[in-house]
Amino acid sequence: MNQPLSNIKAAILDMDGVIWKSHQPLCDLKLLFKEFKRHQINFLFATNNAMSTVEQYVEKFASMGTVVEPWQILTSSIATGYMLAKDFPNGGPIHVMGSPALETTLAEYQFTNTDKDPIAVVGGLDPLTSYERLKKASLFIQSGIPFYFTNPDATYPTPEGLCPGAGTFLAALETASGVKAKLAGKPFPYVFEAGLERLKFPAQQTLVIGDRLETDILGGYRAGCKTALVLSGVATRADLESWSPAPDVVLENVMDLFDLME
Ligand SMILES: [Mg+2]
Repeated sequence: MNQPLSNIKAAILDMDGVIWKSHQPLCDLKLLFKEFKRHQINFLFATNNAMSTVEQYVEKFASMGTVVEPWQILTSSIATGYMLAKDFPNGGPIHVMGSPALETTLAEYQFTNTDKDPIAVVGGLDPLTSYERLKKASLFIQSGIPFYFTNPDATYPTPEGLCPGAGTFLAALETASGVKAKLAGKPFPYVFEAGLERLKFPAQQTLVIGDRLETDILGGYRAGCKTALVLSGVATRADLESWSPAPDVVLENVMDLFDLME
């Protein structure tokens, strides 16, 4: 049974499985934004997907009739840039094995893609994958260059079924190099640290909303936030029974959130 949510001032929402499934909305987005405004809750969206840029997400929201500001979008590419900037505050040349969106995003953090003398290797879901690309990245990693990766999600759901996710490419590079990557996306802290910095409220007053227990709920819990599991995506009530830490609230749909705030 859900307890009322009191004193929530900010929210970090996952996208796929929470507000939409691919291109199919799961709620009335305009109404969602209106309700957040009415309850004076500052909010942003955070996804482990590193295949789209912030601009592409802003466009996707616009195509569904809503306006988000660029600061309201966090991707695992941004989390990777945030993590790299902590280790390399001045930026520098890196070797990227991932999507064009990852390369573009990291360039905004002053990390440019190179095949010569990189200071780090950064991997992600690589739509251009080939033996040559895997070989190049693996050889750099074996030479001792620090190895980073956007997120470990093994698969991602599509209308065709579960397709190879970033974790598939992570496994390939870790197997080839014998080195474990430093990871950026949820449940690791960088997305939540970056989100809390942007929202400007303490973790205890921030609600993390997501459809995956092992990324959204675990990450939110570790960050010290309140957590809400929505059942409109991956996780089911049956999954909850064998899971700890339990989310603070469980919702059929994200819009049910506001019933707990009246
Ligand atoms: Mg999701």
